[in-house]
Amino acid sequence: MARFKRILLKLSGESLMGKQGYGIDAERLEDYARQIKEIQEMGVQIGIVIGGGNIFRGLTGSQKGFDRVKGDQMGMCATVINSLALSSALGAFGVKSKVMTAIRMEPIGEFYSKWKAVEALEEGYVCIFSAGTGNPYFTTDTGSSLRGIEIEADVMLKGTRVDGIYTADPEKDTKATKFTEITYDEIYMRGLKVMDLTATTMCKENLTTREMCEQLGINYSSWKQSDVRNHPEIVRLRDTTISRNHIYKSSSLSIIERVWKNRKR
Ligand code: UDP
Repeated sequence: MARFKRILLKLSGESLMGKQGYGIDAERLEDYARQIKEIQEMGVQIGIVIGGGNIFRGLTGSQKGFDRVKGDQMGMCATVINSLALSSALGAFGVKSKVMTAIRMEPIGEFYSKWKAVEALEEGYVCIFSAGTGNPYFTTDTGSSLRGIEIEADVMLKGTRVDGIYTADPEKDTKATKFTEITYDEIYMRGLKVMDLTATTMCKENLTTREMCEQLGINYSSWKQSDVRNHPEIVRLRDTTISRNHIYKSSSLSIIERVWKNRKR
């Protein structure tokens, strides 16, 4: 049995563009699809939220004179494009998937509801939740926290270009150092851009250490923060996930793949 029954995977739009700097890199897409298939074959139910930053971001648009709400709607459409691309790549690997949309746009995708999503996940479909939250002024980070919490995912995993949480963006600042462990409160205090603050707050308010302990079969009443060092399961969890109150983000799905390869049976 895999460690997690159900996961929510967040892929940034930028991670899809590979080295080409814009749009969708077919090789990267194929690589993701292959890894998602491997994870699914381990019996894990997979929900995915993809960003749209490789195509359009509302905020960037508004800085160039676009109306913010229309710009955000364009951004949400960009996430739908990416979701369709991933769904198509998954299909090529024989993986059944459903694109769900936060805004009604049948027949492009099914209008999202938690119940339909959970049913599809239980039936073995990979569910791709597109159009973020369906509202302007939000991001797909918040979309993934929301969907992750709604579908009761055991863990939310974030694939980005950077292999962890750093004191600053390591692609811009060579002096940036990587955290081995971090809490939500530190993220606020240090003003780190791990996820946007709305998404961070959603996770902080909805996912607790108690849940993490229950999930890992640890006695919550005797739980101490220092146990993290002695508990290999949590170390592994901490090294790979945005989850509960220990947060980390992985650079690519290959890290996630490694976790499952090392999983306890
Ligand atoms: N967006 C939105 N509401 C949402 C999710 C996304 O308006 O709930 C828009 C917003 O303009 C955002 C764009 O879609 O900039 C693309 O999403 P995001 O920036 O999160 O993509 P990523 O950075 O992950 O590629």
